[in-house]
Amino acid sequence: MGSQLLYPVRRVYCVGRNYAEHAIEMGHDPDKEAPFFFQKNPDNLLIGSNAFPYPSRSNNVHHEIELIVALDKGGSNIALGEAMDCVYGYAVSLDMTRRDLQGEAKKAGRPWEVGKAFEHSAPCGDLVLKSDTGVLEQGEISLKVNGEERQKGDLNQLIWKVPEIISILSGLFTLAPGDLIMTGTPAGVGPVEKGDVLDGYIEGVGDLSITVT
Ligand code: MN
Repeated sequence: MGSQLLYPVRRVYCVGRNYAEHAIEMGHDPDKEAPFFFQKNPDNLLIGSNAFPYPSRSNNVHHEIELIVALDKGGSNIALGEAMDCVYGYAVSLDMTRRDLQGEAKKAGRPWEVGKAFEHSAPCGDLVLKSDTGVLEQGEISLKVNGEERQKGDLNQLIWKVPEIISILSGLFTLAPGDLIMTGTPAGVGPVEKGDVLDGYIEGVGDLSITVT
């Protein structure tokens, strides 16, 4: 925090439906699902600006407040017990989603990129180092829109915990320094409008304030 050091981002992985209440609100049974993943592009990150431009071709853009985990080590088939050694730090982020386009893609059995991996779709706050915060296993994660609480949960409600996510993901992909993982969103997702102010907060990590322009 407050440092000018840059962290070169390699890949941006995202976990789907990783809080029970959110899985339920999206019409799924949280008990039956293995974790699943999608990716955003590194240049979709919105860093150093608080202006999120409302994207094209959508009338239903949703906010999803998420904890980002940033890696400084990687590998394949990382054991559960070694997974936290890969974590460099944390950040507050938003997985902005063109829900209408994502819904069409889901229905047609098509990929999610048009719904998820568009320009500026991943507003991201300052990276805080695990060496300063310690391992974050609990704490508030919340989002206000225009001062009104819309999303609220606790990191201890993650269905798949951070070490499990890293271990499973590393069986599918070779993880490396610079990889970010967006760990999923608690319940309360909903649409944003131009002019809305989104105030995200994660206990131990900090704040992220974004205006929809
Ligand atoms: Mn998400």
